[in-house]
Amino acid sequence: MSQIPEPLRELVEQFSRLPGLGPKSAMRVAMTLLKWPEAETRRLGRNVHDLRDKLHLCSRCGGLSASDPCAVCGDASRQRDMLCLVSEWDSMLTLEEGGFYHGQYMILGGLLAPLEKMDAESLDLERLVRRLEEGEVRELVLALGATLEAENTASFIKSLLQRRFPQVTVSRLAQGIPLGAEVKYMDRETLRQSLQYRQTL
Ligand SMILES: [Zn+2]
Repeated sequence: MSQIPEPLRELVEQFSRLPGLGPKSAMRVAMTLLKWPEAETRRLGRNVHDLRDKLHLCSRCGGLSASDPCAVCGDASRQRDMLCLVSEWDSMLTLEEGGFYHGQYMILGGLLAPLEKMDAESLDLERLVRRLEEGEVRELVLALGATLEAENTASFIKSLLQRRFPQVTVSRLAQGIPLGAEVKYMDRETLRQSLQYRQTL
């Protein structure tokens, strides 16, 4: 890395921390940017620069959005008694692309994974509890996936909520999901069926 001129070195170092990019592909990305027309490269830089200013977390669901509430939470035509809990925002995108779910969402912000130091404190449980306290939600659908972490998180949430909100049915996506599957990678039909045949927990 020492022969690389300074402005490039830091960029390559940052790129190499992106998912799927090692130092070599990070360098390839940087070289590609240098070959782009200058206006394009500058526009990319501006977009990265503005990202944190223009994107916010929706105060209702915790999802990324340019507005607060986000388009989904602000949509008055959606069912208000059904809340779908996903671990990350991109799972919500996958469900939304399917177009078969018409309730509300809540983003948990991860899954319990003791080895990766993800404990209950790291999850957005407060937002979830606040939402349930509003009293509108009748069913909470856990769409956390079928990994071991998802299973553990599901049982944790179930036991956390059952005494406090006995009126809320906790269900989960049907177990047709291939073991180890993450919601964001599921195809539309599998996802639609697992929602339709969801099981009470
Ligand atoms: Zn929202």
